Amino acid sequence: DRINIAIDGPAGAGKSTVARMVAGQLGYVYIDTGAMYRAVTLSAQRLAIAFEQESALSELLSGLRIKLEPGPNGQSIFVNGEDVTQEIRSREVTRQVSYFAASGVVRGVLSAMQREMAARKGVVMDGRDIGTHVLPDAELKVFLTASVKERAARRFKELPADQAISLEQLEKEIAERDALDEQRDISPLLKAHDAIELDSSYMTIEEVVASIVKLSRT
Ligand code: C5P
Repeated sequence: DRINIAIDGPAGAGKSTVARMVAGQLGYVYIDTGAMYRAVTLSAQRLAIAFEQESALSELLSGLRIKLEPGPNGQSIFVNGEDVTQEIRSREVTRQVSYFAASGVVRGVLSAMQREMAARKGVVMDGRDIGTHVLPDAELKVFLTASVKERAARRFKELPADQAISLEQLEKEIAERDALDEQRDISPLLKAHDAIELDSSYMTIEEVVASIVKLSRT
């Protein structure tokens, strides 16, 4: 029988790569919820809507159609038909996304979309609050971590050439984003009590994927 798999953890722990590979091996659908928060952030920034402007945000969200599809480099994301896959990774979006993600208006709408996407089972969903809030009944929950140093080093290697930023600065920004995600009032980043914690600092991606696939079959 198909199950739902929740993979939560801090920025740069390797969630999206791992989730995509697990989904590929099981023939499941991968859903990157971080990309959805980024898409809302980008859309708001384009209209100069700030994260505190609840009614403007509600209006924006009510007109937003978000679609995730398998793409050439993992997953592509479309907002009202426009491919924003590259743009949601910009430094501007990355710096602001945790503020928009702390908004109850934004979380309410996106959580509902995510639950609907998982309703027929067979999804691997990665994020911050999937095991605790979005899919509390997920059959398998993984909390994927790694040290801040390791996470920053991994992100540093993947930086687009136009994003000139030092490793130290990157480490600082990742730590700041984690702190915002852990300290927000609504659905903070938290290990679910029934989640299995995997520290990927000293594991290869393949080892992490293999252990999750094995867990999904027990
Ligand atoms: O996964 P990624 O790093 O792309 O997520 C971007 C941001 O989106 C996170 O730092 C967090 O603020 C927010 N997010 C969230 N809840 C999720 C997924 C992402 O708050 N389920």
